[in-house]
Amino acid sequence: MIKIENLVKRYGDKLAVDNVSFTVEEGEIVGFLGPNGAGKSTTMNILTGYLSSTSGKAFINGKDILESPMEAKKLIGFLPEQPPLYLDMTVEEYLNFVYELKGCTLNRRKHIAEICEVVQIKDVYKRLIRNLSKGYKQRVGIAQALVGNPKVVIFDEPTVGLDPKQIIEIRNLIRMLGKDHTVILSTHILPEAQAVCDRIVIINKGQIVANEKREDLQNLITGNRRFEVQICGPKKEVLSAVKEVTGVSYAEILGGGEGDSSSFLIESQPGVDIRKSLFHKMAANSWPIIGLSSLGVTLEDIFISLVDRNQKSEKSKSKKIKLNEGDK
Ligand code: ADP
Repeated sequence: MIKIENLVKRYGDKLAVDNVSFTVEEGEIVGFLGPNGAGKSTTMNILTGYLSSTSGKAFINGKDILESPMEAKKLIGFLPEQPPLYLDMTVEEYLNFVYELKGCTLNRRKHIAEICEVVQIKDVYKRLIRNLSKGYKQRVGIAQALVGNPKVVIFDEPTVGLDPKQIIEIRNLIRMLGKDHTVILSTHILPEAQAVCDRIVIINKGQIVANEKREDLQNLITGNRRFEVQICGPKKEVLSAVKEVTGVSYAEILGGGEGDSSSFLIESQPGVDIRKSLFHKMAANSWPIIGLSSLGVTLEDIFISLVDRNQKSEKSKSKKIKLNEGDK
């Protein structure tokens, strides 16, 4: 449905997108994940025809966005990071304006009413956009993307600046739209991509560093788990015992805790759950564990795992080459 091939974008001598390629199949919800400045908006803006690329191509359903812009753009609904709202219009005026702008031929009343139902803005239909909350403004932005019933909907950082309740509502809405649209969700928030997407493409410094199904990324992430644990007992002895627990790859004392407890940072080897063994080891020494919290995985953790993985595969490649050379 969407194909991006060797996309490059330079702003002067700044290389913002560096040879990016990926595809999105019909019906998929794909997360485009990366830290701020990674090149997400630039890629989305090229894909939607807002920006031209320095080189490379983008196709929507086989239509080249630069060579057949009208046909390609008809297939896309786009919610840019700054929704293109006219604040002095009412929601009704704005959606009718977008309908005309897009040259939509569907039954106007019925189509706009259906969209308002889906994004739940019927109760603000007659109100000025200027006076709406940020959450409602975002819904109106999504509504404009849906005018014309495009097959593909692209969201660029749709939850930035919303409160937690609005964030959940917008994520649910995106998931629901994913049932009958192909969706790209560009975000810098890892849990957002995990909550909404089937597949996650990770971009860093303009380059794709991973393209994985959600569950595969999950395995990659849970490979290395970190805990903060409070244990009562003599901290140096406790630390040595912790290091002896099977599966612990790293441990350090973080500081003193309540009473005679100390706080420890403990990391496990990939794929090993150390919690039960840790419990038994501490219990055998009569050192109570009074707290254990899993430290959430960050995008940085994923990058570290990915770099690790890539270095390992590079090493094994060069090993194989050496072995082959030895065969000669
Ligand atoms: P993201 O959406 O992931 O935050 P962007 O695509 O906005 O990243 O930006 C990628 C890089 O390109 C950043 O380093 C940013 O500063 C730079 N950049 C973006 N737009 C412009 C522009 N119009 N002129 C110069 N540099 C830009």
